[in-house]
Amino acid sequence: MTVNRRREAENLWRWYIDSIRKEEPNAEMLDGILRLSGIKEAGDERIVIRVENDFIRGWIEDRLLDSIKASFRKMAERPDLDVQLVVEPQAPVPADDAEIDEGEPRPKGTPARPRLNPKYVFDHFVVSSSNQFAHAVCLATGKAPGKQYNPLFLYGGVGLGKTHLLQAIGHRVLEKTPEASVVYVSCEEFLNEMIDALSTGKLKRFRKKYRTADVLLIDDIQFIAGKEQTQEEFFNTFNELHNSGRQIVFSSDRPPHEIQRVEKRLISRFESGMVADIAPPDYELRVAILKKQADAARFTVDDGIFAYIARKVVFNIRQLEGALIKLIGYVQVLNKKVTPELVDEVLAGYSQSVPKRLTIDGIIKSAADYYGVTPADLVGKRRQKGIVRPRQVAMALARELTGATLGEIGERFGGKDHSTVLYACEKVNGELRTDPSFKGEVDEIRARIAGA
Ligand code: ADP
Ligand code: MG
Repeated sequence: MTVNRRREAENLWRWYIDSIRKEEPNAEMLDGILRLSGIKEAGDERIVIRVENDFIRGWIEDRLLDSIKASFRKMAERPDLDVQLVVEPQAPVPADDAEIDEGEPRPKGTPARPRLNPKYVFDHFVVSSSNQFAHAVCLATGKAPGKQYNPLFLYGGVGLGKTHLLQAIGHRVLEKTPEASVVYVSCEEFLNEMIDALSTGKLKRFRKKYRTADVLLIDDIQFIAGKEQTQEEFFNTFNELHNSGRQIVFSSDRPPHEIQRVEKRLISRFESGMVADIAPPDYELRVAILKKQADAARFTVDDGIFAYIARKVVFNIRQLEGALIKLIGYVQVLNKKVTPELVDEVLAGYSQSVPKRLTIDGIIKSAADYYGVTPADLVGKRRQKGIVRPRQVAMALARELTGATLGEIGERFGGKDHSTVLYACEKVNGELRTDPSFKGEVDEIRARIAGA
């Protein structure tokens, strides 16, 4: 049977947009994007999606591309499928739109060494009292890795700039010493690779990769909790690097001693160098970040608008950026004018989630209570039906009630992929529409969450 690749790609794209549209509070914006995008090329190896302009490309790349890839691969059962974006305007381009991308897809096949986001550099990091100390130690570490603060342990809440700082260190080291081996991994990737290596007997290669790093950056180390089998190998890797004066930097959403189910000796290693925290952003920082972002996007609005957004979005810089990106989207994609009403509309999802203080952890707990399982089950990997369904419900509720992104929810649920979360939301919402008794069940959990 010959597969019509083009039709398949078109279906995948439509399915993806549909499924995410149901989840996204800013459906209108996605509709705009959908109207302006389409399949450009569909082959055995890759699918190229045409997008209207650079802004949309950035928007999709930053927030959706990983989940698009994962969903396409899963739906099409083509694990090696690559998805790329190309800018190719269909509508007439405004005359002042000087910086249209030539549409070159990223060079492929270049070794993914190290996968650092080019935006996460020190120059793009805005400093204020809440992050000043963390910034200073990271700067020093980037300048002289392995010297002063080793290991460096950085902690702070979600969306406060940990990943940004971690990668900024990597960038700084490579600027000065391009031949340095800088390895950046999420804890989850690190553990998966380790397990893989252990089970396929390729431990040597794994060890070589990590034990020869000059700078090892491990993001979200809190996910090592409970992975006892791998802590041993990790401990050895740590010691080897540390003893030979290589720099190790960790990030975590909590301080070392609050990471549960981790061997004491590892905790004490985490604490043995410098531990620095990042606090939630103060008002000045929030305004400054908005201004910087708007400048970068060459988007001009009244200062009053920045102040307004900064007062409403308080805890999370990622959300702050999200709010601005959404606003820019409304203006650029939908040709709307910035008015106070529009800002309110854009912020609707955010302003609600803050006063209620619904946390993903709280939702996990309520759902676990209701189903008679443990929170650890819900964030774990076991695939029994009695756990999978409660897990999916909890994910869907987290999505509905907290305004967190798919990625953030995945993170909280033990480092799961965007597409897993998306699939869960899709499934639960589908059943909610057709199954009244299931709806009763979910409403009951909602009530518990609200009362918790
Ligand atoms: P975390 O890893 O702590 O969850 P990230 O590093 O991913 O947070 O930051 C979330 C977003 O906020 C990123 O886009 C990052 O660039 C931005 N950000 C965070 N802190 C700052 C800051 N001080 N200045 C500029 N951008 C920031
Ligand atoms: Mg992070």
